[in-house]
Amino acid sequence: MTLVLKMLRNVDESVADWLPSRLPIIAAKFALRHRIAVVLSPSPSVRANVIYRDSIEESQSAFGFYSHFPSRRAVWAPPRCSGLIVVAANLRPLAHQICERREIVAETICHELVHYEQWRDGRKPTERGVEQRAKALVRAMVRDMPQFLKRTSVQQTE
Ligand SMILES: [Zn+2]
Repeated sequence: MTLVLKMLRNVDESVADWLPSRLPIIAAKFALRHRIAVVLSPSPSVRANVIYRDSIEESQSAFGFYSHFPSRRAVWAPPRCSGLIVVAANLRPLAHQICERREIVAETICHELVHYEQWRDGRKPTERGVEQRAKALVRAMVRDMPQFLKRTSVQQTE
């Protein structure tokens, strides 16, 4: 199946201009069996309020999170999607070069897709090995396509 990109308003242009052409490359690294929404948030971090039994637990802020449906924990589901990834797209601009910001966004999407695979395969959610795998996947994408993190434009051929 596929990743469905949804950008909220005011997403960092250097990410908004670049990700639509790269998301299929990221998706191709995973055996997706569901439609997963990837929502880009115009914020330096995101945080999920997790509903568990009768209490709301606020998670730590992070670059991204993943949730699947149907889930008693999920309070919002995009239409026709089985899972949701929310990614912080407006990383503090002065702290990172454009390519670094894109690298973090790509790694975050990969990281959350590894959590999707854990769910898909009926495994327990764990952080073990997830970040290493996400970084290795993005390294492989850059190796296969040296322009992966570079600026794209309609004039440019790749
Ligand atoms: Zn994680």
